[in-house]
Amino acid sequence: MLFTTKWITGLFTEFSGRAEEEVAIDEVTSDSRVKTENGLFVPIIGENFDGHDYVKQAIDNGAVAIMWGKGKSLPAFISPDLPVFYVENTLTALQHLAAGYRDEINPIVVGITGSNGKTTTKDMVAALVKTTYRTHYTKGNFNNHIGLPLTILSMNRNTEMLVLEMGMSNFGEIDLLSRLAKPDYAIITNIGESHIEFLGSRRGIANAKLEITNGLKENGIIIIDGDEDLLMELHKQDNVITCGYNPANDIAIEQVEIELKQTRFKLSGDNVYTIPLLGRHHALNATYAIALADKLAIIPDKRRRALESLEHTSMRFELQKGINDVSIINDAYNASPTSMKAAIEVVKQMEGFKQRILILGDILELGEHSESMHRSVAAKIEHPVTAVFTFGEAAAHIASTVKKKNATINSKHFTTRKELAHELENHLNKDTLLMFKASRGLHFESFIKEIISS
Ligand code: ATP
Ligand code: MG
Repeated sequence: MLFTTKWITGLFTEFSGRAEEEVAIDEVTSDSRVKTENGLFVPIIGENFDGHDYVKQAIDNGAVAIMWGKGKSLPAFISPDLPVFYVENTLTALQHLAAGYRDEINPIVVGITGSNGKTTTKDMVAALVKTTYRTHYTKGNFNNHIGLPLTILSMNRNTEMLVLEMGMSNFGEIDLLSRLAKPDYAIITNIGESHIEFLGSRRGIANAKLEITNGLKENGIIIIDGDEDLLMELHKQDNVITCGYNPANDIAIEQVEIELKQTRFKLSGDNVYTIPLLGRHHALNATYAIALADKLAIIPDKRRRALESLEHTSMRFELQKGINDVSIINDAYNASPTSMKAAIEVVKQMEGFKQRILILGDILELGEHSESMHRSVAAKIEHPVTAVFTFGEAAAHIASTVKKKNATINSKHFTTRKELAHELENHLNKDTLLMFKASRGLHFESFIKEIISS
């Protein structure tokens, strides 16, 4: 059980039915289609739908209590016994309920934001703290103003650590999530370029991420990318731990080796770790988790084992074998300029290939910065990359920029899926590494499916 309706009456002033009795609530949901046991249904008004219209389905699916917008009339089929909480705005009410529950359970809270690497860092942090604490954490990408409250409202009462991913696309969003979650630890993974169309500049992006400190508990600790100049102002604060490749960082990565299936890295003090993910940026993500584990006194042996045996989420820089033993890196899950550059760096760092081919598609949601951002990706494409194939209107700028500056790289743009698929057929051999990356909307996984050996 999470709580009873009686407990909820402490947070809201207007209610009816058996609300003041101890009606047990086991689950909170905003999705009427989900079957619940003793559910509390919170109807959210979205752009295309109004959850209030689905209350019957929610009750049929196990809701034993509901929230209800005051402006809406309650349908006649609702039993007068059903506990109903009347609120001005059901979304705000959901957040208020989550904040109340967070305070009631009072776990140690870790909030994780940044342009890239939130989910990866969250999974690493969860894997580490799970070794020692009863831990609840964001499933998948439930990181926004609805997903985060629902995540809080699904933690068991005996939770000791709560690990929350905090996503955003505009100012004020992380502020809200942080004040709601009140983190004891706040991690800023990096400042990239995602959502620059709303935030104006990288300074704007940094300020939006820094909102995570607005709800930080007194004596809370901030863990940041210490190599990012835009976060420099934090360096003076004594509650800040900086991580990065610069030796001046509190926790410095002294050495990294990218192997075929794992990354090995060494921190100051002869601490060597391996993670089943590829790239310097993932070593950095792991370092944030290690910095936290240090503070929580999780012993080094446990940290090492937890990081070694991380489960990796599919389509996140996954190494696969294809036809004729060609090596394929599938990073088709998502793309931002920063993550695309990071992925290209990894391709350059990997040993043992004669041909290294990048297959890059559009990075969406860059607004007026789209062309310049795609051109900035091209700046990273150099030896030992041997070819770059692009697909999509904006990605065309990558191929054309590479072509102009570097004649030794085979750069081609494709306007049909068929032509690109046909070109790829010429490059399927064991000495070749193909790296696929694009925004999710480009559906690059379809190319990969075709060339995977069965
Ligand atoms: P989303 O905004 O979609 O939730 P996220 O911040 O959760 O993204 P991840 O899903 O962990 O990020 O990783 C997404 C991409 O970002 C990956 O393709 C990875 O290559 C890249 N990436 C991960 N960590 C970093 C980092 N610290 N710096 C730069 N790029 C990174
Ligand atoms: Mg994420």
